Amino acid sequence: MNYYSTNGKVSPVTLQEAVVKGLAADKGLFMPERIKALPPAFYDNIQHLSFQEIAYTVADAFFGEDVPADTLKQIVYDTLSFDCPVVPVTDSIYSLELFHGPTLAFKDVGARFMARLLGYFIRQEGQQLVNVLVATSGDTGSAVANGFLGVEGIHVYVLYPKGKVSPIQECQFTTLGRNITALEVDGVFDDCQSLVKSAFMDEELNRHMKLTSANSINVARFLPQAFYYFYAYAQMKKAGKADELVVCVPSGNFGNITAGLFGKVMGLPVKRFIAANNANDIFYQYLQTGRYNPQPSVQTIANAMDVGDPSNFARIYDLYKGSHPSIAAEISGATYTDAQIAETVKQCYADYGYLCDPHGACGFRALQEGLRAGECGVFLETAHPAKFKSTVEGIIGEPVAVPRKLADFMAGSKQSVLMEKDFAAFKAYLMQQ
Ligand SMILES: *Cc1c(COP(=O)(O)O)cnc(C)c1O
Repeated sequence: MNYYSTNGKVSPVTLQEAVVKGLAADKGLFMPERIKALPPAFYDNIQHLSFQEIAYTVADAFFGEDVPADTLKQIVYDTLSFDCPVVPVTDSIYSLELFHGPTLAFKDVGARFMARLLGYFIRQEGQQLVNVLVATSGDTGSAVANGFLGVEGIHVYVLYPKGKVSPIQECQFTTLGRNITALEVDGVFDDCQSLVKSAFMDEELNRHMKLTSANSINVARFLPQAFYYFYAYAQMKKAGKADELVVCVPSGNFGNITAGLFGKVMGLPVKRFIAANNANDIFYQYLQTGRYNPQPSVQTIANAMDVGDPSNFARIYDLYKGSHPSIAAEISGATYTDAQIAETVKQCYADYGYLCDPHGACGFRALQEGLRAGECGVFLETAHPAKFKSTVEGIIGEPVAVPRKLADFMAGSKQSVLMEKDFAAFKAYLMQQ
């Protein structure tokens, strides 16, 4: 299947090219030419299937034309070496826990899938070192670095804003070494993202080294995120709660929710979506006004959603052919201040004994405020609360236990390269590699 650019100024490319390039030459995002609906029998039986079986069916619809069945199955099964359970919080609100992977955040799914698919394509092409550039506001860096750690033929550069990610997040990508280099940028997340985008556009640099992206703009990272929406539906169906299902996604760059929207196009019976924002409310404002007005990002306690110009908006816009009414019919919005997020973490814990991280709390609150009679909601608990230990402890006034997996990262020693936020310095550094 071919992939076209949302900017429409270049010819469609193969899956392999879309994965290796990341971003289209006209700066657009790649979209699959077709989104295949899955047969009704699949949805009738879905509650009897395992996560891996469900995911393979979905992966086959996306990638089956381009990757041999046994390879694709292996990639899917290796990627999903952990569960994504749906856990009840109230009678009508459930948490889809996406933090059971190696770095305790949902990005593990996309990152692990992409590393394996890219590894497959590189083996197909013969050996040339591929360099993955990834900008992170926190969790992308750790998921990508760990997803790619030790994958032959790939070097990863993680760009992150100095002083703006939590110490736990930072140690998950600065202590790995091997084929992972951490670049500590003197700026905000949007500066990191724009350095990455500029690097892809620089001809001289691209002659010097083969570059690709592992941000949620890469189709191999964002599409696999659809897997767990289907699995969440299966679990809710089993619980008899799936008739009027609302899915609420704490959103920053909007890759995660876009994968869910793709699922719905494939026939997944989700009634509607809610995009929960922190104070970075660009999408929320778009829903209200029909105008997309990017802003500099502001720092919040849900820092993985501190995005002022969400990349995947272009995909949502394309999916609904630019129609504001269609987008607003499918997705409603919510936006919360830090004080509201903190209040929600505290209340949810006190009232229901369920501890959300600051991102998941936005999702929980949006369901609490937004569910209509007869609806059940699932919010995506996108990270483990211990990843935001000091914030969460400050809110609930109790210690938060750190899972073993996380504690192991913190034992390592930090290695990073300091970087100015201007492109010339970044380019000069890469030209020496
Ligand atoms: C990345 C991230 C988000 C935002 O996901 P997008 O796909 O960028 O919208 C939300 N929560 C956590 C914990 C994240 O790491």
